[in-house]
Amino acid sequence: MEKIKCVEGIHYQSQRPIRLTFDHDLISGMEELEEISSSLIIAPGLVDLQVNGFQGVDFNEPDLSVNDVVFCTEKLWENGVTTFLPTLITASEQALSDAIKKIIHACEDPLIAASIAGIHLEGPFISKDAGPRGAHPLEFVQEPNWEFISRLQKVAKGKIKLITLSPEYESANDVIKKCVAEQIQIAIGHTAAKADQLKRAAEAGASLSTHLGNAAHLSLPRHPNYIWDQLALDDLWTSMISDGFHLPDAVMKVFMSVKPDKSFLVSDSTKFAGLPAGTYQSPIGGTVQLTSTGRLSMQENPDLLAGSAASLKSCLEYLIHANLATLSQAIDMASVKPLSYLAKGEKVSVFQEGSRADVVLFERKTSKMMINKTIKSGRLIYSSEI
Ligand SMILES: [Zn+2]
Repeated sequence: MEKIKCVEGIHYQSQRPIRLTFDHDLISGMEELEEISSSLIIAPGLVDLQVNGFQGVDFNEPDLSVNDVVFCTEKLWENGVTTFLPTLITASEQALSDAIKKIIHACEDPLIAASIAGIHLEGPFISKDAGPRGAHPLEFVQEPNWEFISRLQKVAKGKIKLITLSPEYESANDVIKKCVAEQIQIAIGHTAAKADQLKRAAEAGASLSTHLGNAAHLSLPRHPNYIWDQLALDDLWTSMISDGFHLPDAVMKVFMSVKPDKSFLVSDSTKFAGLPAGTYQSPIGGTVQLTSTGRLSMQENPDLLAGSAASLKSCLEYLIHANLATLSQAIDMASVKPLSYLAKGEKVSVFQEGSRADVVLFERKTSKMMINKTIKSGRLIYSSEI
C-alpha cells in the first residue's frame, strides 16, 4: 500500500484549509493554509467497536475463512473505518475459538492487525431472558466464567479487548475485576440486571453499556428499570446503534444529553450491511428482508428487526440527517470517542504531532459522506479514484 507523505483538505471541525504531514504511521504536523483547490473534508478515521460482519461476511459463521476477515476489513476501509473490533456473539467455546483463530491469522498482515484493535466478545455471559437475550442462542448462554475467558484469551494471543456481559449472575463481579486487571474492558449488555447489580458491576470496573436501549424487554416497569439505572451510572459510557431503526430520535437525544462526553456510535453491523435490498437467509434469524432504506427485519414478522445492516458511516449520517448532531459532533462520536473509550477514557488528540495517521477524506453531499480516500497508519488503504 502506498505511503502517503501529506494530504490537504478542509478540517472537519474548524472548516479551514489544512495540510497534514505524516511520518510513517504517525502525524508529524498540521499546517493551516490560505487556500486550497480541494473541497474534500479531512476527518479522523472511523472506529467501530461492534462489527459482527459486513458485505456478505459474518465473523460468527462456522465457515469463516482468513480471506473473509481480510475482505471484510477492506470493505470497512472503503466505508471510512480505520479501526474496528470484530464481534463474536454467544456460541460454543469451540466455535468461538475457531473464529478467533481465523481473525488472529488474518492479523499476520500488519495493516489488518493495525485495523483490528481487538476482539469484542458479546456473550456468552448474557441474560437468559427472552428480550434481553436478543437473537443469541439460549443453549450456549452461561454465567460469567473466568477460566472460559482465559482459555479464549490464550487462543486470541491477548487480543480480546472487550466483553459484553450481564451482571445478573453471582460470578459477574469477580469476573469483571479479573478482566479489568488483565486489560479487558467490560460492557454491560443483553441484561436484565437489577439496580444494585448494575451499580456493583460499575464499581467492579464495568465501563460501558452496549447498544443501550436495544436487547431489552418489550415492556419495562416505568421505573426503576435497567435503562434508567445504567444512564444514571456516571462511570458507564454508552454505545448506540443510530441507524434510524434501532432507537427513536428522542431516545438518542436523551442518551447524548445525559452522556455528552461518554456516548459513541456502533454499527453492530451484520453480514447484510453493504448488500443490495432483497431477501436473504440469516444464520440466526431465518429468512430476513433488507429494504433499500437499510432496514433488516424478519420476513415472517416485519415488525421485528433482525439486526443492523448499517455501516458506521451511515449511522453517523443518520445523526446529522435527524438534526441530533453537527457533522463534526457525529464524526467525533464515530471516531475520537470510541477510540478514547478503548484508551480507557484518555483524551485522544486529533491531527497533532504524534497522533495516529488514520484519516478519511470525503466529499459532503447534504448529510452524506462520500469517501474519497482512507488512510491507515500513513498508508493509502482506499481511494475512490483507483
Ligand atoms: Zn447485541
